[in-house]
Amino acid sequence: MTTTAQIAAAVRERYEPVIGLEVHVQLLTRTKIFCGCSTAFGAPPNTNVCPVCLGMPGALPVLNKRAVEFAVLAAQALNCQVRETSIFARKNYFYPDLPKGYQISQYDKPLAEHGYIDVPSPDGGTKRIGITRLHMEEDAGKSLHEGFADSANSTAIDLNRTGVPLIEIVSEPDMRSPDEAFEYLTRLKEIILYTGVSDCNMEEGSLRCDANVSIRPKGEKKFGTKTEIKNVNSFRFVRQALEYEINRQIEMAEAGEKIHQETRLFNSAEGRTYSMRSKEEAHDYRYFPEPDLLPLVVSPQWQQEIRSRLPELPDARRKRMVAEYGITEYDAQVLTSSRSLADQFEEAARAAKSPKRVANLVQGELMGRLKANNLDIEQSPISMKGVAASADLLENGTISSKILKDLYDKAFSSGEDFLAVYEREKPQQITDTGAIENIVQEVIAANPKQVEQYRAGKTTILGFFVGQVMKATKGQAKPELVNEVVRKQLGG
Ligand SMILES: [Zn+2]
Repeated sequence: MTTTAQIAAAVRERYEPVIGLEVHVQLLTRTKIFCGCSTAFGAPPNTNVCPVCLGMPGALPVLNKRAVEFAVLAAQALNCQVRETSIFARKNYFYPDLPKGYQISQYDKPLAEHGYIDVPSPDGGTKRIGITRLHMEEDAGKSLHEGFADSANSTAIDLNRTGVPLIEIVSEPDMRSPDEAFEYLTRLKEIILYTGVSDCNMEEGSLRCDANVSIRPKGEKKFGTKTEIKNVNSFRFVRQALEYEINRQIEMAEAGEKIHQETRLFNSAEGRTYSMRSKEEAHDYRYFPEPDLLPLVVSPQWQQEIRSRLPELPDARRKRMVAEYGITEYDAQVLTSSRSLADQFEEAARAAKSPKRVANLVQGELMGRLKANNLDIEQSPISMKGVAASADLLENGTISSKILKDLYDKAFSSGEDFLAVYEREKPQQITDTGAIENIVQEVIAANPKQVEQYRAGKTTILGFFVGQVMKATKGQAKPELVNEVVRKQLGG
């Protein structure tokens, strides 16, 4: 099997990738889904355990109400229909880190179905990606293959994670490119973060993604045989893994080879996937209703109560912010990348005399500097409060935009917030007409050639004089005043 990542574009063109994603999200409850053990990450191995999550005979699960509320909230945010009665089911399989020999999940009656996420499409519009289902389940433990004295010969098991509450979000096979999959994941994570039901921390495993991918000749309706890529730990790697896997499948198809349904692992260092095992079918798991738990009933009233806690979601917020503050789509995108940032921006915009000016400064002065310094907006030395303060100083003419730029530069080089720099520097604008008149006189006297040009009708040269005066005053002269004085003295 060759593994070239590059396939002639003409060959690639003849095929259409079909991608579906399964995302596991850990819910931010304090305790596990069926017992009172802590869910805290990083505790010493096997300390957050009890007879229930260790699967001791006779220990019975009790469902965590908060976990249900979080799962319902996430389902509502993802436009799903929440089922009034859902059923927990046993998914039977053996795994060293699964002490019970089964996982409590949901099967044919999941908590929620028929949702969707709208993702931006390359043509500037949006594409709707369906969500087949969202169900609740417990997490398994963790097998540790390294970091111990005898790691070379044995595997250690940490059961702290066993029984931590998860939701699994299964998409429809609606995505047609790795980029679309990337967008879907980005939006999904953003929405979940807005609801506050998970921290979506991929390093700690709070968000995990499996990708199903197949190819088919363009125009073909039937799905090809899919492979599943397991547990890729960043969205970037998901995109890479999909790109690799699509090319691998196309090469096989071109060579007349059969694609096997299997689970594959992505090696990010090599940028390729490896076969792990042939894929199980649902019937291999011998699902049956969990006899130790009652059906889960989420009444319409309870659903309504949970819905009332749903915050304004990123898409709606972006649209409103574009309309309300006159900012661009792109800026709205950046400013809503986290809920706290959007809150900060809106607080600043509303507190300032001119919200539009705050928005302009964010677009015109802040974003460029952040990009140049390779900083995320969360790492900005200038807070949104600082931006609002600078907007007001500019608005009432206390500082010029030239001074503002200087202060922003200083804030970025010293890592201080705007007001701290402003208080120290206390830059004053020269608004004294007499002082400016003297400087304008000097500039005119020093540049007779330009004066001649101006009088000969080249009025655009006015800007040259204004620039010279601003330079002489280190940018502290009030530009409107300089303009007026220069015009007057040149006799324009
Ligand atoms: Zn427990």
